[in-house]
Amino acid sequence: MYKAVRGTSDILPQEQAYWKYVEEKAACLCQLYGYQPLTTPIFEDSQLFARTVAGGTDLVDKEMYTFEDRSGQKLALRAEGTAPVCRAYLEHGLFNLPQPVKLYYIGPAFRYERPQAGRYRQHHQFGYEALGDADPALDVEVIEMAQQFLLSLGLSEFSIQLNSIGCRFCQPKYIEALKQHYSNDATYLCPDCKVRLLRNPLRLLDCKKASCQSVAETAPKITDYLCPECQAHFQNVQQNLEMLNIPFQLNYRLVRGLDYYTRTVFEVESQEEGTQSALGGGGRYDDLIAQLGGKHTPAVGFATGIERLILNLKRQKTKIPALPKPIAFIAYLGEEARIEAMKLAFRLRQVGIAVIKATGDKSLKGQLRQANSLSTNYAIIIGEEEVRNQTAVLRDMINNKQRAIPLTEIAPSLKQSKPLE
Ligand code: AMP
Repeated sequence: MYKAVRGTSDILPQEQAYWKYVEEKAACLCQLYGYQPLTTPIFEDSQLFARTVAGGTDLVDKEMYTFEDRSGQKLALRAEGTAPVCRAYLEHGLFNLPQPVKLYYIGPAFRYERPQAGRYRQHHQFGYEALGDADPALDVEVIEMAQQFLLSLGLSEFSIQLNSIGCRFCQPKYIEALKQHYSNDATYLCPDCKVRLLRNPLRLLDCKKASCQSVAETAPKITDYLCPECQAHFQNVQQNLEMLNIPFQLNYRLVRGLDYYTRTVFEVESQEEGTQSALGGGGRYDDLIAQLGGKHTPAVGFATGIERLILNLKRQKTKIPALPKPIAFIAYLGEEARIEAMKLAFRLRQVGIAVIKATGDKSLKGQLRQANSLSTNYAIIIGEEEVRNQTAVLRDMINNKQRAIPLTEIAPSLKQSKPLE
C-alpha cells in the first residue's frame, strides 16, 4: 500500500476546522492592516532560492527539493515564501504602485528536514511582506501584526525575541570580529560550526551544541558594531514597540536561518513545552530585491508555520468553531420515495439548505445510523405513504421527537431550525 511520503501528511476532515480557523484569522488580520493576498507557484527557478537564501544555509545546502523538468530547467519546490513574493513584485512592476506594497500569502513550503513533531518536509506558511519602504514603523507594524495574530488565535504563551544584524555597510566589520573571536577556539567547535566559520559566520551564534556555547556567549555583540543609521533604526523600533506595550526581549544572538536579512530580525517563540519552539520569524531584507535584479528596495516581513500554530492551539486546548455541516439527512423507503427524496434534496439545496441524501438501498435503520454518525440535527424520512400524501416525517435527532410535515413546509421549518416539540 502507498503511504504519504515521510514528512508529509493528509489533513483529514476532522482537522480542517483548525485550518479554516487559522486561515480565516490570518485573512482577517491582513485585511485589518491593509495587506493583500498573493499566490505564487509551488515551484520556481531553483536559483531564486539559491541566490537569495544563499549557500552556507541549511535550507539551500541540504533541504531544497530541486529537480530538472523535461526541458532541463532546474526548478525547486517553494522552500520559503519571501523570495517568490519579491520575484512577483519585480515581475509585475508592483514597484510602480505607491509604496509600500503590502502582500500576504498562505501556502505550502518544502524542506528536506528530519521529520519530528512540528517539523515536516511539507509544511504550510502564512507570511506577509511590506515592500518598498525603510520606515522603522513598518518593522513595528510587522511585529505588532505577529503579536496580534497569535493573540487573536487565542495563543498567549509566546515571547518575541528581537535583534538587529546591521546592514551591508556595518555587518562586514562585525563578521570580521566574529571570525576573529571564533578562530581562536576553532578546534573546539562542532563540525557544523567549523563550516559556518568559513561559509556563514553569523550562523555561528545560532548553534545549540554544548561545545560551542562558551564561544558563542563571549562573542562580540552585533549591536556594538551597528552604524549610526542602523543604530537609530533599531532604537526607533524598540521605542515604538515599548510605546505600544508590545513585549519583546532583546536577543543579541538571534540571527535568522536565511541569509537575506538586514537590520531588524525577530522570532516568536512558543513557551509551551514539547513543541518546536519557533512559531514564526521575520525581519528586514533591504537588499533582497536588488539581488534579484531590481532597484534598491527596502522591505520587511514575517512568516509563521500553520502546523506549529495548530499544535499549540491543541496543547492549549483552545476552543475552535466547528465547520458548518448539513442540517438534515434525507432517508427514504422504496423506489417512489427515492425519487421524491432526490427532488426534495435538489429543492432544499437550491434555497441554500445543506442536506445529505441517503443512497443505495440500506434499511431505514441503517440510514438513520448514518444520519447519527453524521450528527445532522434532523432526519427527513419519506416512505410510500408520505409520497402519496406529499409529506415527510421530520425527526429531531437531538431530542428524538418527530412529526409529519408537508413537503412544502420542510424548507421554512429547517430554516427556523428549532427543536421539535
Ligand atoms: P522560516 O522560513 O524558516 O523562518 O520559517 C518560518 C516558520 O515556519 C517557522 O517559524 C516555523 O513555524 C515554520 N516552519 C519552518 N520549517 C518548518 C518545518 N520543516 N515544519 C514545520 N514548520 C516549519
